[in-house]
Amino acid sequence: MFGRRPAQSDNTKYYDILGVPKTCSADELKKAYRKAAIVNHPDKGGDPEKFKELAQAYEVLSDPEKRDIYDQYGEDALKEGMGAGGPSMNPFDIFESFFGGGASHPFGDFGRGSSSRGRRKRRGEDVVHPLKVSLEDVYNGTSKKLSLSRNILCPKCKGKGSKSGASGRCGGCQGQGMKVSIRQIGPGMIQQMQHVCPDCKGSGESISERDKCGQCKGGKVMQDKKVLEVHVEKGKQHGQKIVFRGEADEAPDTETGDIVFVLQLKDHTKFKRKGDDLFVDHSLTLTEALCGFQFALTHLDGRQLLVKANPGEVIKPGQSKCINHEGMPMYQRPIMKGNLYIQFQVEFPEAGALSPDQCLSLKAILPSRSAPKLSQATVDECEETILYDVNMEEETRRRQQQHQAEAYEEDDDEDAGGQRVQCTQQ
Ligand SMILES: [Zn+2]
Ligand SMILES: [Zn+2]
Repeated sequence: MFGRRPAQSDNTKYYDILGVPKTCSADELKKAYRKAAIVNHPDKGGDPEKFKELAQAYEVLSDPEKRDIYDQYGEDALKEGMGAGGPSMNPFDIFESFFGGGASHPFGDFGRGSSSRGRRKRRGEDVVHPLKVSLEDVYNGTSKKLSLSRNILCPKCKGKGSKSGASGRCGGCQGQGMKVSIRQIGPGMIQQMQHVCPDCKGSGESISERDKCGQCKGGKVMQDKKVLEVHVEKGKQHGQKIVFRGEADEAPDTETGDIVFVLQLKDHTKFKRKGDDLFVDHSLTLTEALCGFQFALTHLDGRQLLVKANPGEVIKPGQSKCINHEGMPMYQRPIMKGNLYIQFQVEFPEAGALSPDQCLSLKAILPSRSAPKLSQATVDECEETILYDVNMEEETRRRQQQHQAEAYEEDDDEDAGGQRVQCTQQ
């Protein structure tokens, strides 16, 4: 009645295990499980395998959705994930959810010390991978195929580790999976420590040498290669996660963790992204800045945008212009787009590029806005100064670093202006 898995999946086994007809009600199901679980509880000398099967059957049949899947497609459908969960639950958890842990427990000593907490179904660790994407990738959307190796439950023994599907109770922990040790940490003070049983690594089971599965050698898991197709949607941000639920390493009695990809947006040579907006730098010659310009800007999807000055427009160094709705597509509503900002640099002629004659011609053309001429007397009264070349970006960065350093070293603030920048004369 219990034990061997049928060669092909049927959809009556769970009913047989609980000894109920296929038409039974939820209440009849409960009663049947309650009765059988108490009799077969390993703490009462019952067979752990039977106990497990009861829990498995009850878990499926008590869930209307899973029962439906089971009735229609059988046990294998549940294992294939249609009912999420499948047969990897912890029988003790089910038992406990039924009878409750602690004082009102039908077995006085159950749930004490080697508490049921240790038997709760573990959750496997999530596996986190960085996923490098280009700005083009998140502008256009893309999908990447990644091959990953992971542990899966041995397909031959379905993660049981044994040929027969059975396993005995671990002698090291009496099938509890956990061991409790008590140590004295002070006069009259005792600390109770709970740790995973080293003999069975927490499974509570042991498999005889003869019965070990030939494929996994009793290890229950195998290495497997899997190709995941990761869809990177338009507009995804740096640091955003793409989660593959339950695709991490499988382990017996463990809820499989997730594979999590964290997007790492690579720097782009031309565009910078801030939220949904894009920024691009463009250099103009002085002539273009004064007399107008026109150029083609290749966008992230290969389109050529024609960018041109309005008639009569003069662009000042550092000035920005905006093209509406040519920024990044917005995440999950890619029809909407941010803005594209163009920051203009103006390349002035090098020193000495203009002859005195050309300067005179320019003076004649350009509006004169020079300050009133200083009298010789004023000049004589002024102090002489020297103008050095500076890189203002660097200056600002240095000032910020200094600021931070000061914030960290509050107790050492007497030298606040400490490292003054020395500009080199050229
Ligand atoms: Zn053990
Ligand atoms: Zn195996």
